[in-house]
Amino acid sequence: MKLYNTLTRKIDDFKSIEENKVKMYTCGPTVYNYAHIGNLRTYIHEDILEKSLEYVGYDVKRVMNITDVGHLESDADDGEDKMLKGAIREHKTILEIAEHYTNAFFSDSEKLNIKKPSIIGKATDYINDYIEFVKVLEKKGFTYFANGNVYFDISKKSDYTKLSRLDLDTLQTAVRDNVTEDLHKKNPQDFVLWFTKSKFENQALKWDSPWGVGYPGWHIECSVISLKNLGEQMDIHCGGVDHIPVHHTNEIAQTESYTGKDWVNYWWHAEHLLDLEGKMSKSKGKVLTVSLLEEKGFNPVAYRYYVLNSHYRKQLTFSFESLKQAESGYKKLKNRIKVVKDRNSKEELTDNVITYKRNFKSCIEDDLNTANAITVLYDVLKAEDLNDNEKLYLVEDFEKVLSLSLLEEPKIEDVNSDEVKMIEELIEKRKEAKKNKDFQLADKIRNELLNKGIQIKDTREGVTWSRI
Ligand code: AMP
Ligand code: ZN
Repeated sequence: MKLYNTLTRKIDDFKSIEENKVKMYTCGPTVYNYAHIGNLRTYIHEDILEKSLEYVGYDVKRVMNITDVGHLESDADDGEDKMLKGAIREHKTILEIAEHYTNAFFSDSEKLNIKKPSIIGKATDYINDYIEFVKVLEKKGFTYFANGNVYFDISKKSDYTKLSRLDLDTLQTAVRDNVTEDLHKKNPQDFVLWFTKSKFENQALKWDSPWGVGYPGWHIECSVISLKNLGEQMDIHCGGVDHIPVHHTNEIAQTESYTGKDWVNYWWHAEHLLDLEGKMSKSKGKVLTVSLLEEKGFNPVAYRYYVLNSHYRKQLTFSFESLKQAESGYKKLKNRIKVVKDRNSKEELTDNVITYKRNFKSCIEDDLNTANAITVLYDVLKAEDLNDNEKLYLVEDFEKVLSLSLLEEPKIEDVNSDEVKMIEELIEKRKEAKKNKDFQLADKIRNELLNKGIQIKDTREGVTWSRI
């Protein structure tokens, strides 16, 4: 398996700490609002990462946090408590808000065939552990107390910028330009480990601590939840690219200061989904959600298909037009599989499947090239050296990673199986004719289909068809 590693800025060979086992951590959602389809794009790719590792033989232990307290955009005084904002907006308590949006997140994930991680940690369940963690950092001399808050002193971590590779002076200017400077910090990038001086009126969730009543900083939850569940070192830590310069950088600083060891071997980051106005963001107001896609008549799994046709390290600009196109391709794919399923006479499997399995595996081992893996699936469907039973065997096998519900019956309104069968048969006949160099017959079949309102196209995925 080869994976791009943000730490080394190159595609590295993946080697796990323990043989055949992978310890993986995923930054989870902030549950003050519905996840938008951008967040879910990242979770779909993380699901692909986990399933690909399992496909190639690893046993994966995956941990994810749920941010149900705090989550400041930054530690600056004008950061906002998103949870509190959500609660005020909806006249609910913070815990009611958190529960509602946590359930919504898992329901959306299920609709997108995203597997639930083996361990889910709610940030509010680990308060005592954060306190113990901060006490250790304090004892080791990495912190200072100012204006009621405990800060992490980044000057004590000499390789603080190893993940972001950003020059501190540049970062400093950026921090100053964007937010009101916190004059109590020794360095602009210092961050709060424990707040006692709430920046917000009516801060609802507070706990007692050696520094006074307060609440934890945001980054601390990922460090502590992963240490508790995965130990002091792990293989892969995932998240969206927005987390590189602050959240993940601060997670590394505090965790490695706490353990005195290197923490994560592979940092994996997914690029953003953009809307026509730029990055999709929860705080922008009305966002695109799975429910909205459903309201517009889309099958959520078609969105997964759309996402898998682009690489996780490339930005993707969303439009309903492109989703519609992807959905139409997805429906046709399912219909083609249904035709194979219906006519399957259960012949024996032969060694012919091996090459296709190998091709599929090498696509996912190539830094998770899902688009190419889908091309292998099309190769299977049009293969002349595979019987129907072998084709279905391979679809089922690839589904372990792709999870596109390909073997589920297409929705009744998406399929007219007699018509699809007729089209597929004519396409087969035309292929035969071309093979026999009977181009007259091939053209005749093309025209016959055209008269029925079906246009065919020779593509790298084989012959595709659409209605005119
Ligand atoms: P949040 O709930 O805001 O903490 O974000 C959850 C996950 O979605 C994180 O891994 C983010 O990095 C990621 N994310 C945020 N915005 C986008 C976006 N526009 N496209 C893809 N992923 C995103
Ligand atoms: Zn995190």
